[in-house]
Amino acid sequence: MKKTLARLYWIGVSVTMLVALLTMALITALRIGDLRKNLGDLLQTTIAWTMESTESLQHQAENIAKASPPTRVTFLLENGLVLADSDEDALGMELHGDRPEIREAIQRGNGDSLRLSETRNGFALYAARRVGDSGLIIRLSYPLDEIRNLIVTYGIALVLLFAVLFLLQRVVLGRFCTALVRQMDEVQNLLEGGMDSQPKAVFPELQGAINNIAYRAGRLNADLSEVNRTLQLRSDFVANASHEIRSPLTSIMGFAEMMDEGMADTEEERQTCISAIRSECRRMLDVVEDILLLSRAEGRRSLETETVDVKAVAEEIVQSLTPHAAQKGIALHLAGEMTLNGVEKSVWEILYNLADNAIRYGREGGNVWITLAQKRITVADDGVGIELHHLPHIFEQFYRVDETRDSTVRGTGLGLSIVRALAESLGGCIRAESEIGRGSTFIIDFEEGDAA
Ligand code: ADP
Repeated sequence: MKKTLARLYWIGVSVTMLVALLTMALITALRIGDLRKNLGDLLQTTIAWTMESTESLQHQAENIAKASPPTRVTFLLENGLVLADSDEDALGMELHGDRPEIREAIQRGNGDSLRLSETRNGFALYAARRVGDSGLIIRLSYPLDEIRNLIVTYGIALVLLFAVLFLLQRVVLGRFCTALVRQMDEVQNLLEGGMDSQPKAVFPELQGAINNIAYRAGRLNADLSEVNRTLQLRSDFVANASHEIRSPLTSIMGFAEMMDEGMADTEEERQTCISAIRSECRRMLDVVEDILLLSRAEGRRSLETETVDVKAVAEEIVQSLTPHAAQKGIALHLAGEMTLNGVEKSVWEILYNLADNAIRYGREGGNVWITLAQKRITVADDGVGIELHHLPHIFEQFYRVDETRDSTVRGTGLGLSIVRALAESLGGCIRAESEIGRGSTFIIDFEEGDAA
């Protein structure tokens, strides 16, 4: 980038210098044009004056030169012999017949030229004319010192300008490029999510664009993290689900092979194998059913909602779980009322899962309380409880607290993740509180608009 900018810069500088040079040439040409015209006019006047004058040619030459300095006046014959000169002694001067303006004057009556003066050091403008048929030629010359001074001054100014531009390129452009490169690095960093704070723009005009990029980069990175998290969850889910299905399948294969190879001889052994196969099938079915429930729960947000009488749903659940609770001597209690704007099936599955867990992990002869309030559902038990460090994980898929502790209780580790997905689909937020040995409480809070 630095090279490109430097190239552009030097193109700009070259164009500027070229324009300056052309301007100088134009000014010089115009000035020379003016001088040439003035010299022509003066020559005309001089001829008229000479024709009437009775003074010697030397006097005439000196008087005319004095009247219009710094003009030099020379009288000469057509053969180039100098008769009089305002600046030099005519006798000591060489023949001037070879001078271009003199040659032209002899051939065409008048001539002019711009050339280096052989007697004076420097360029001069010459104009010569024949005086009638007298064989006399008058030549005027005008030194171009003024033009030379103009060109020198202009040239020095151009050199200085070039030096300043060169320094500018070194200092300003260098700094500008460094700042711009740093800014681009910052923007790049921003896009890759490697910057927490918003960079300050090198130029105030860029601040708006940088703010915009920072905002979009922030959103992009947040979305990317979310996508990565979802992808990770999905791949964890596939790995866990495969594991949960493979374990019972391996057991089933083992028992089937035992029977096939005649290792279960007696009727009793065969019955043991069959019941184990049945139990593993049941476990597999539970996992598959829960996976289906979970995937349905995650897509339930889009279903049409209705006003749900939560108390009526809870009563139904208490009724259907009473035999299960009775096996452990657990008493089910229901209190409060609630209506909810949502999907009845979701409410049913939430309450069923939480109450079923409360019974499964409840203690013999204990209690389960379902309490409904205006914007809150609470399911509590006085069972085994959950250790504090497990609490943040129990809503994760396939997470089971201490497999050995729960080995007597069947479970897939999916129940609470289903409940959480369903609660969220109804606009609710679930959390758990627990104390080991004293019981657990699951609380779902609904937002203002969901609980009717
Ligand atoms: P599972 O099918 O194993 O019950 P869940 O997702 O329903 O799966 O529960 C995850 C874990 O949380 C369970 O393994 C269990 O240890 C613990 N848990 C859930 N509910 C209760 C409860 N009411 N009391 C004690 N522990 C519970």
